Amino acid sequence: MEHIDPVEKKRFEIRASRPCEFCKELDPQFPHRHPLDQVVSASRKSTASAHLTEDGYVRHRIVELTRLASRAARNVA
Ligand SMILES: [Zn+2]
Repeated sequence: MEHIDPVEKKRFEIRASRPCEFCKELDPQFPHRHPLDQVVSASRKSTASAHLTEDGYVRHRIVELTRLASRAARNVA
């Protein structure tokens, strides 16, 4: 039986990534991001903290906050 090194497996999981669905849908600047700033860890949901890079995290948070702000503005109006 083939032995799988847990460290190798973990490294693979960290590398596995997919585009953040939340940012892809809601950030008009998404296509202009660095490729690494577009993706989240494949094993996690599309949340800010799932982003692999700090810039990706920050941009995700900005999109979230912009949505919250526009929703609040609509409620006032
Ligand atoms: Zn995102």
